[in-house]
Amino acid sequence: MKELHSVVCIKPVPDQRFWDKISLDPKTQTLRRAGIPVALGPLDLNALEEALRIKESRGGKVTVVSMGPPGTEEILEWAIVLGADEAVLLSDRAFAGADTLATAYVLASGIKKLGDVDLVFLGNESLDGSTGQVGPQVAEFLGMSHLTHITKIDLTGDNKLEAKFRIEFGSIDVEVKTPVVIAVDKEINEPRLANIWGAVWAQERKINCWSINDVEVDRDKLGLSGSPTQVAGVTTIELKRKGEMLTGEPADIARQLVKKLQTDKVLPEA
Ligand SMILES: Cc1cc2nc3c(=O)[nH]c(=O)nc-3n(C[C@H](O)[C@H](O)[C@H](O)COP(=O)(O)OP(=O)(O)OC[C@H]3O[C@@H](n4cnc5c(N)ncnc54)[C@H](O)[C@@H]3O)c2cc1C
Repeated sequence: MKELHSVVCIKPVPDQRFWDKISLDPKTQTLRRAGIPVALGPLDLNALEEALRIKESRGGKVTVVSMGPPGTEEILEWAIVLGADEAVLLSDRAFAGADTLATAYVLASGIKKLGDVDLVFLGNESLDGSTGQVGPQVAEFLGMSHLTHITKIDLTGDNKLEAKFRIEFGSIDVEVKTPVVIAVDKEINEPRLANIWGAVWAQERKINCWSINDVEVDRDKLGLSGSPTQVAGVTTIELKRKGEMLTGEPADIARQLVKKLQTDKVLPEA
């Protein structure tokens, strides 16, 4: 059986534990991310897990690729600890402010430079932007087939696989030839936890940082100026409702709740 080279695209997303610290710059209408640690998105962990399982069952290697500002190395290092063989950070001021198309363009340029690639894995959607557009766009730029909402994969030959994708009221089974871009849902697997051997493995590996000069790109298709989508306005929702915690024994909490609902005229007086 042929060994496979899987690439996993991982996006640096703001660490969920710090989301209350994220604010919007009223002038530029962009997120103030300074000082917010980045993390690997949950579906990207599923994408990485699937690639690692394929490496373990078939041989080959796993390369993780990310486009992001300096600091993104952290999530690439984590992916190596989990078992990735190689890591590439695509980072350059020219890439900043990219919409999904410009993001996919840079990721695809990086993947092309890697050479022979059989499988490209992504999360079906990211934790923050959540458009779900990057996977199909990367596939278009690479001239590969693509599958989205994937919940199961079975390698059935040297260059084909069967996959199950989720639809609203069930699922559909498909057979596809590699190379293929696969965007996964969380049902596909249970991501592994890191272990001590991962930390040892990571010490022997380095992250390759590629700038605009390292990939073949058309400069007009990069960053904010190369993005066909422009943000016309952003509105911050003002939360007027306030939560209140009732404490005590369950029966006491129930009495307090009924009293409050009666005061607010949601329930009739007894
Ligand atoms: C006009 C405009 C300007 C923007 N400016 C900025 C900006 O200045 N700074 C900024 O941070 N964001 C900016 N964004 C947001 C940025 O475009 C998105 O974060 C990015 O394109 C990915 O979109 P998404 O999160 O919806 O991806 P999805 O399509 O939901 O992601 C699916 C999967 O694609 C992969 N993926 C997505 N992005 C990356 C990545 N960067 N590297 C590796 N894999 C990835 C992951 O596997 C992810 O799970 C801007 C967006 C627009 C429209």
